[in-house]
Amino acid sequence: ARRSWRERLSGSAFARSLGTLFSRKPKLDEDLLEELETALITADVGISASTELVESLRKRLNRREFADADQLLAALRQALIALVQPIAQPLVMATQHKPFVVLMVGVNGVGKTTTIGKLARRYQQQGLDVMLAAGDTFRAAAVEQLKTWGERNRVPVVSQGSGSDAASVIFDALQSARSKNLDLLIADTAGRLHTQTGLMDELGKIRRVLGKIDAGAPHEVLLVIDGTTGQNAINQVRQFRAAIGVTGLVVTKLDGTAKGGVIFALAKEFGLPVRFVGLGESLDDLREFDATAFVDGLLP
Ligand code: GDP
Repeated sequence: ARRSWRERLSGSAFARSLGTLFSRKPKLDEDLLEELETALITADVGISASTELVESLRKRLNRREFADADQLLAALRQALIALVQPIAQPLVMATQHKPFVVLMVGVNGVGKTTTIGKLARRYQQQGLDVMLAAGDTFRAAAVEQLKTWGERNRVPVVSQGSGSDAASVIFDALQSARSKNLDLLIADTAGRLHTQTGLMDELGKIRRVLGKIDAGAPHEVLLVIDGTTGQNAINQVRQFRAAIGVTGLVVTKLDGTAKGGVIFALAKEFGLPVRFVGLGESLDDLREFDATAFVDGLLP
């Protein structure tokens, strides 16, 4: 059976430290606010969002709006939901784009390739004709991984030999998907930030050549972020935004060892839509981001 958000998120530092804090029926005082602020910052919520959340609770506490810790917790819940509700925007594929082109970007190891597989399956199950482009030409293993996956799931994968030009692979894929009248093209890209200028140039070139076939393509640039990387996620968003522009985020690996709070930091910093979150390795662990389910999964 599909696991609940709470089951998946309960191991996070966020859930554990707030659980501990509120289970001992704390007194409503400055100490509690300080501890709460520390817990939020430690759970990757970020300094700015954490201090702002706690400051608003402090004001309400001083106005004696809370009779007990449960009421303060309820106010925190509302504030956390309000912070991420605006970024809980599902990916909507306008059907006039045929194919709708999704470019997947992100640093190696974040879960980009597996996310591509999960997305392809999701949309295939919804009845769409999907094609993949193996645009991470830098890693032969990534190309092989996509091809194997495509064969197993009967999804066509366009690739060229390793070391080939990513823009050319993705250009060919878009031409082919167009001629076959497919609904969705998902293109992988390299994620090697250590040669940052190279990556920026490559992503820029991909955008330019896609534009020659369809001026609106890519229709979505999905940046995949590893939910365990903490505040480094902020830097990754900045860099990829500068390199190619980002229209949506996927935050993976929120199960397990994640601290849990990075989405709040991302919401505060960028306000970019979070399309999907990864709550585990299996297909149905890639969920559309649900602000209320997420916050309720983290709170005691
Ligand atoms: P890539 O280098 O970005 O293409 O990363 P991969 O797609 O190869 O994924 C790296 C590892 O992360 C794999 O073992 C995936 O199964 C794992 N992974 C991806 N998403 C999630 C997730 O949401 N939760 C967990 N626990 N593991 C994930």
